[in-house]
Amino acid sequence: MAARGYRIVLTAERCVMSDYHGSIFLGFCACAPRSMWYPFFYFRFICPSAPTHDGGKAKLAPYGLRKIEAALINYGFSKSDVVVAHPDKIKKFIGPETKVIGVASNDPLGRGPASTTFTGETGFFGGEPYDAWKFRELVSNPKLKRWNAKIVVGGPGSWQLEDEEERRRLGVDVVVVGEGEKVVPPIFEKIINGEDVRGVFYGDVVEIEHMYRILGGTIGGIVEVARGCGRGCRFCIPTMLRFRSRPLEDILAEIRVNVKAGQHSVCLHAEDVLRYKANGIYVKPEAVRELFAAAAGVEGVKNVGLSHFALASVAEKPGLLKEISEIIGVGSRNKPWISGQTGIETGSPRMIELNMPGKVKPFKPEEWPDLVEQAFGICQDSLWIPCGTLVLGLPGETEEDVYMTIELMDRLKPYKSIIVPLFFVPIGSLKGERGFSVKDMKPSHWELILACWDHGMNWAEELASEYVFKMPWLAKTYVMSFMKKVVRRISRKARKEIIRMMEESAGK
Ligand code: SF4
Repeated sequence: MAARGYRIVLTAERCVMSDYHGSIFLGFCACAPRSMWYPFFYFRFICPSAPTHDGGKAKLAPYGLRKIEAALINYGFSKSDVVVAHPDKIKKFIGPETKVIGVASNDPLGRGPASTTFTGETGFFGGEPYDAWKFRELVSNPKLKRWNAKIVVGGPGSWQLEDEEERRRLGVDVVVVGEGEKVVPPIFEKIINGEDVRGVFYGDVVEIEHMYRILGGTIGGIVEVARGCGRGCRFCIPTMLRFRSRPLEDILAEIRVNVKAGQHSVCLHAEDVLRYKANGIYVKPEAVRELFAAAAGVEGVKNVGLSHFALASVAEKPGLLKEISEIIGVGSRNKPWISGQTGIETGSPRMIELNMPGKVKPFKPEEWPDLVEQAFGICQDSLWIPCGTLVLGLPGETEEDVYMTIELMDRLKPYKSIIVPLFFVPIGSLKGERGFSVKDMKPSHWELILACWDHGMNWAEELASEYVFKMPWLAKTYVMSFMKKVVRRISRKARKEIIRMMEESAGK
């Protein structure tokens, strides 16, 4: 079918338009400096394009973009007004009738925690991350502005464009920060009616009934089961404050939409999937079991996974993980384990008390290091692989706090997992604080980096060979040969470099 111009064109930065061969956590690679792999290899073998149809419409798109598409249709725009297009094919859908181009990005300027840790002035390697490069390239393409359409940016990283100077530099007209369903449709309507809308708009917490069902397949088969968190960490975004679980029938309907689009793997998404339908912070095991069983039971679904879980929830209901593993068939040759992201953040109860007391509930801050180890043990027994994060440079952090985290890393050595140290980025109620950078690293921080590196290298090869098994042969060979290169050859060099930096920072 020949493409044509639409009044509203929705798209996303190229790095989020890939489901990374079904291994969605490889998406972290988008935060690496663009010199890490040749772009040809990166976009062909690690981050291949999501499929398209009808000349460039996205068959699969980021979940947030699908939510905005659904909100626009529910608001009253017709399906013939709105298209979700692949960024490489977008110009085919832009014409004189196009008034708005909505762009989703996780990390438009490369200022998210992962990018600031690895790239730019603050990070270990310097340079521009793939995602920021591709965002810049997309929004500054003169073809987007040919018919004077307004460029509206949303997505988890849109806060990075609150600065007017940055928006002007990139030619971005409007930025939407926060939940988009209620705030985006009226903005688009005003633009279409000829109003000169510009600036930053903040989307407030959206009620369940306004989280409309998606109309097309999603990258990674992501389907949102709950939104918000309620644990109230000071460095988190404000809309996380209210936790809302979606009705099971909405979730199942979205899974069916995915299956219809050819997406047979489902990733249940929430900040803590274990708290689906929870009573405050208390896990409701029967609701979680029902959720996983129902998702796995949808006709056409071959694989069910999850995005995030909380270690406090694991420790609160220790038997639940094993039950979930049984329900979704973890432990087979094709699915030796499942993984999910989880926040460890620190090994210091004092840091917990100061910045994230809600994170440990219903336990106490002083129990945190024991709780983390216990939860990692439960994960191991249940064939769950935690992909944990640590935050370096939290406000009020002392060397003693960092050493407590190093101690915790030592206790976590026997547990198959990946632990990624990230720099503190001042968002949420800590917006006024100073961010952390590689220049702020003390010897203790380098020691912690070394502990994380050694932990990762200890498990990397085994995890990688199990993780990439479903990739096409060539991609699998490429990733594995890279892993072997890292583990066997570069690791020793990297260790030496970390130790050198540690000594250098000690001499400052
Ligand atoms: S637990 Fe995670 S999602 Fe919840 S408030 Fe803390 S940082 Fe945010």
